Amino acid sequence: MATGTSTDVRVLDNFIGGEWVPARAADWFDVHNPAVGDVIGRTPMSTADDVESAVRAAATAFPAWRDTPVNARAQVLYRFKALLEQHFEELSRIVTTEHGKTLDEARGSVRRGIECVEVACGAPSLMQGTGLEDIAAGIDCHVVRQPLGVVAAIAPFNFPAMVPLWFLPIAIATGNTFVLKPSEQVPLSQRKMAELLQASDLPPGVVNLVNGGREVVDAICDHPGIRAVSFVGSTAVARHVYQRATAAGKRVQALGGAKNFVVVMPDADLDRSIAAITESFYGCAGERCLAGSVLVPVGEAHAETRDRLVEAVKSLTVGDGAQPGVRMGPVISAKHRERVLGYIEKGIAEGAKLLVDGRQVRVPDRPNGYFVGPTVFDQVSMTMTIGGDEIFGPVASIAPARSLDDAVAMMRAHPNANATSIFTSSGKAAREFSKHATASMVGVNIGVAAPMAYFPFGGAKDSFFGDLKAHGRDGFEFYTDKKVTIARWF
Ligand code: NAD
Repeated sequence: MATGTSTDVRVLDNFIGGEWVPARAADWFDVHNPAVGDVIGRTPMSTADDVESAVRAAATAFPAWRDTPVNARAQVLYRFKALLEQHFEELSRIVTTEHGKTLDEARGSVRRGIECVEVACGAPSLMQGTGLEDIAAGIDCHVVRQPLGVVAAIAPFNFPAMVPLWFLPIAIATGNTFVLKPSEQVPLSQRKMAELLQASDLPPGVVNLVNGGREVVDAICDHPGIRAVSFVGSTAVARHVYQRATAAGKRVQALGGAKNFVVVMPDADLDRSIAAITESFYGCAGERCLAGSVLVPVGEAHAETRDRLVEAVKSLTVGDGAQPGVRMGPVISAKHRERVLGYIEKGIAEGAKLLVDGRQVRVPDRPNGYFVGPTVFDQVSMTMTIGGDEIFGPVASIAPARSLDDAVAMMRAHPNANATSIFTSSGKAAREFSKHATASMVGVNIGVAAPMAYFPFGGAKDSFFGDLKAHGRDGFEFYTDKKVTIARWF
């Protein structure tokens, strides 16, 4: 963390009540381009006072916004979508610059974010309640969905544009006002999106952005004016946010970390699947909550799956994601690179067999980038550190199983349960797997089982705290309260 403002690199402002205002910060966090190592911005570590200002602005904006007809609220989101399309390439480049993922990956993530805006534009239909006449003689019953008030979201570093769009569009389409805290590591695309919202004629105070870290998160959890909190990040912080914000009486959905198992059956069509398996482990440099982490070949599938994965990773050109031809960018920070390298060392020390070593990868024209090459371990057991911990980097741990039952048992024993995949030609095996998987996002011959914007997104066990998941119909449930009116007219 940097202390003191800098003259050469721009310090980010907060967006409160429709204005860009300086934070009352005493510390700043350096934002890096992870491919280059340069500082490209400074995130103010805002204080509880900044959260107070944002909540006050959101609370002031709430009465008029909730009274704005739902189709008029949707019109703002249509304009926002049009601006996101217009600035699609610029936004994707900002994502690549602050996060490191390749431009194609950034474009894919921005596209997914736009799809969330499209779903929210359906609020006039999706926000509807129910009703029934004559529940007793002359008595009718109506259920309407009402916004909660001021709601907040806290985002992780790995999908800077997309994850905030899981929440923001549905929250405001349903009439809530919103406070967003970006990850301090990647605040730039969220700043751009706030500018686009401003240009969409969103009334001041409907969306507010407070940059920062822990102090902002805790202030959001505690603030009595905030009715609901959406969180995405690691399990430890998800649990903390869930406990702290529910203790303060809020509705909370907290999406946590992952350890995803990818099972390959002997009857898998590897010719058609190996690309998807490779993408699952190494896409976005392994920094996806849906990324494969443990590869579980069953029985005879072991040798061929292992050899083909080792072959496939050779084609993964590592480099600056902004450059054409690069298939895998850097990890987010020097600190995270050290962490991933530490896991590789641990894997070796604990007896896993290192087949491909990503530690020595160098990108000649980017000597200061935070690169880790694709890494493959074989003979990993679940008692090893790399078998248990979320690495969140480009490391595949192959842990062979004797049978599908053993593979499923391996997954079920893990405390995380976010996503999982099976590769097979057998409908029966796929059905058994899907039925007994603990993870709640399951891919069948799909390596990254990402639910589209109109389906629920979220895991189970230590990967998710709460009940209503992100986006889709769950999003509309989460951001509204159901009011029942029972009426008799004389
Ligand atoms: P993180 O938990 O470190 O940070 C997430 C947010 O919490 C950030 O905004 C950060 O400022 C804040 N934060 C960090 N430490 C805190 C603390 N001690 N107290 C209060 N707030 C704190 O997560 P990250 O490194 O930004 O993101 C990667 C993690 O997110 C991985 O574990 C990944 O699996 C998870 N993730 C999960 C999903 C999902 O859908 N389940 C999606 C994306 C990412």
